[in-house]
Amino acid sequence: MRIEILTTGTELLLGKVLNTHGKWFGEELFKLGMRIQRLTTVPDGDAITQAIRESVVRADVLIITGGLGPTSDDLTRECVCEVLGIELIEDEAAVRSLEAFFAARNKVMAESNRKQAQVPVGADVLPNPNGTAPGIYIPPRLNGAANCAVFLLPGPPRELYPMFRAEVAPRLVALAGLANPPGMLELKITGVGESDIQEEIDAKLAEVPGLEVGYCARVGEVDVRLIGDEAAIAAGRDVTLAAFAKQTFSEDGSSLEATVVRLMSGAGLKLATAESCTGGLIANRITDVPGSSAVFTHGFVTYANEAKRDLLGVPQEILDEHGAVSEPVVRAMAEGALRVSGADIAVAVTGIAGPDGGTPEKPVGTVWLAWAAKGQATLAVKQIHPRNRKDFKLAVSQAALDGVRRLASK
Ligand code: ATP
Repeated sequence: MRIEILTTGTELLLGKVLNTHGKWFGEELFKLGMRIQRLTTVPDGDAITQAIRESVVRADVLIITGGLGPTSDDLTRECVCEVLGIELIEDEAAVRSLEAFFAARNKVMAESNRKQAQVPVGADVLPNPNGTAPGIYIPPRLNGAANCAVFLLPGPPRELYPMFRAEVAPRLVALAGLANPPGMLELKITGVGESDIQEEIDAKLAEVPGLEVGYCARVGEVDVRLIGDEAAIAAGRDVTLAAFAKQTFSEDGSSLEATVVRLMSGAGLKLATAESCTGGLIANRITDVPGSSAVFTHGFVTYANEAKRDLLGVPQEILDEHGAVSEPVVRAMAEGALRVSGADIAVAVTGIAGPDGGTPEKPVGTVWLAWAAKGQATLAVKQIHPRNRKDFKLAVSQAALDGVRRLASK
């Protein structure tokens, strides 16, 4: 089924509102075994009519969002009716539900809202319990119009999402008559670059019959997307894990921090962090996860040397001798955090985020990471992430959390 999405609104093209509908529809439709074939965004005005004219001859389903409000620039209904040659009439039930919406809020309906009860003759009115604009469904070939089914939906996400799930999804499933929609598995991998992953597994995955493969690179993470029937996905998973079992931290969409919290709480382990260059990001990511209180005990943000010395007991001599971004200091930070907190695992990071402060020996992006764990030798590594400050912090937090994950899953 060829599905097109048309998002309307000048604000989307002026950079005033982030167009999130494409992402949202992509995910919702995939759950139904469907995909967007084309996503178009147009400003309010004539462009809407033009875009509808092009889509209805190309698509089986056209979903239009926005422009159902009461103001003069809300013209989607009129544009659709002009293209399909269908008349608009006032729908009695829609007027009553608009009046009820305002009455429930102790308000009188403005005359301009009446326009929102205008419906193409023969179309279905889709109730909107969260706003004033009802949605509209125009079935294929209504009154001899196009073969394309057309949905008109409100722009605001809190009105759109429930209406889609309650009114649109069941109609789409009926239109598609899908028996066996394909499935999807997303393997999240960290610690390996996108091109290395691709080099290792891409040719092997290409040999799996009926498997569609996609890669999505993020900071410190690559998602390998496998789409197909059950057998194809299982074969693709085997290929990926044969190469990257240790680096794969999630198969169900969970973030790295959620994986860490799940593993540590399952094993009854406690975590402390000692952060310099990440400024608390590792602690923040951990505490974003519900249930992290069972795991997380202390987060030290020791940005200045004095803080490293006074809170974590890092000896002044090694700070003076090696500098804050050094192996002896990061080891002392991790071991100090473990000692002071009484946790089972402590992770420490100290680095140069830039843009200034680099030297030939320690260029911008240099970071030392250490993991101290009760009864185990402390592990320290140096990495270099020459990125902007935000991405540097994210990449370092990712490496730090991954080390914790590996210790917790031992
Ligand atoms: P209203 O009755 O609020 O005017 P409407 O159906 O006419 O609803 P729009 O005016 O197009 O919808 O959009 C209203 C608001 O919904 C926008 O200002 C924006 O906040 C949000 N919105 C609309 N389209 C999108 C989109 N594609 N992505 C994210 N948000 C959107």
